[in-house]
Amino acid sequence: MVVKLGGYARISLDKDGEELGVQRQRHDYRQVAGVRPGWEVARDYIDNDVSAFKRNVVRPEFERLLVDLQSGVIDGVIAYDLDRLARQPRDLERLIDVFEERPELVFCTVTNDIDLSTSDGRTMARVMVAFANKASADTGRRIARKHRELADAGKNGGGFPPFGWKADRITLAPEQAALITKAHDDLLAGTRLSTIHREWQEKGIQSSRNTGKPISRVALKSILTNPRLAGFRAVKGQKHIGPDGKPVMGVWEPICTPEKLDAVVAVLQGIKSQFKTSNMTNNHKYLLSGILRCSECGTRMLANIRSSWKEGSKGSRFFYRCPATQDGGCGKVSRAGEPMDKHIINLIHDAEARMKTPAHGAVEWPGSARLAEVGLEISELISAMNSKRISAATAIAMLEPLEKERDELEYERDRHTVEQVKASAAVVDLSEEFERLPIERQRAVIMKHVRAVMVHPAGRGARKFNPDLLDVVWAA
Ligand SMILES: [Zn+2]
Repeated sequence: MVVKLGGYARISLDKDGEELGVQRQRHDYRQVAGVRPGWEVARDYIDNDVSAFKRNVVRPEFERLLVDLQSGVIDGVIAYDLDRLARQPRDLERLIDVFEERPELVFCTVTNDIDLSTSDGRTMARVMVAFANKASADTGRRIARKHRELADAGKNGGGFPPFGWKADRITLAPEQAALITKAHDDLLAGTRLSTIHREWQEKGIQSSRNTGKPISRVALKSILTNPRLAGFRAVKGQKHIGPDGKPVMGVWEPICTPEKLDAVVAVLQGIKSQFKTSNMTNNHKYLLSGILRCSECGTRMLANIRSSWKEGSKGSRFFYRCPATQDGGCGKVSRAGEPMDKHIINLIHDAEARMKTPAHGAVEWPGSARLAEVGLEISELISAMNSKRISAATAIAMLEPLEKERDELEYERDRHTVEQVKASAAVVDLSEEFERLPIERQRAVIMKHVRAVMVHPAGRGARKFNPDLLDVVWAA
């Protein structure tokens, strides 16, 4: 009688120095099976690079082995050792269930460490797996503690070098760092993240992993908001707070100041919407949509494509118009788009030129001394609480108002920073640069000067663009 066995082999990379190649495991169990009369390895079940210790990892071939054992396709299992086959008690119990259901099944390992077909063997297996599991969990805890010690010391963790730094994770990678700085400046000046993402894609920028794939939008966002950019040691994307209650600073060269990073995070989170010149900043494809208003009813005018327009047609490709009554406007006023855009750009050009003449330097934020003071008081309270000099209840009662003040101050500082950066970044040479700016930046420049443009009706048959029929409401 032939006993058909399923041979199981697995290699896991998490056990340094104990790797046993799948080929060797297979060779060994086939040899053992070969000396038993009537035994034959009918099929090899091989899971490659899958750790049996990690709980949520599915081992497809192990699953298949269980099914084949249950259904009688094979009459038993042969493996190198129990460790290869089952390291999770869960997996072991599932295997044992099958052996208890079908007592005729055979079980064998090369190391001869266990026999699941006997009751003693099953008890032994449970003990062994429980111990192996504990050892792995201890390793996990040891690694976690090591990570925390590194973080507390502001030292680098492992893994790929973060975008912006060289392989030593300390020295800047100048090209990547420059990209981050430019992206920050653009964001603070009003460019949208998706526009920056498109630019990076066009330039073919890749992460340090060199996966060959372009950086995703989500990855770009985390690159641009990584606390380590401002020198903070981060754990899972958050500033790491040390035992003294203060954020731990890293040992590497920073790319930006903490204030700038906070401002970038604020802009990307979009919570602090008052940073925007108006809620009309985003999501417009046309320069003046929502900035122009119908003088008859006051409604914001929107752009429409002229459906009859083709390449080479006369006149404007699009027009601005007051929405129809059912859309909340009066539908009475419209204007050709291109001459309108040109006219407003010229007005802004003059306004920018006037602004440029007086050199306005950076204004320092007046609250920085108080913010530093509050930060100090908070960390003193926390360390007093940690060393049990004051009770937690007392500390928390004192902390709350301080934290509130700190949050308000930080908010004020971010606002100040954004306004400063905006003021310096928004001054552009309109003659050339303006054309190259993304549309939301162009709109931001316009809205810096103009609150609205009232458009008067042009009368029937009026063909020529007449700037006298506009009233510009300048920003204060
Ligand atoms: Zn209207």
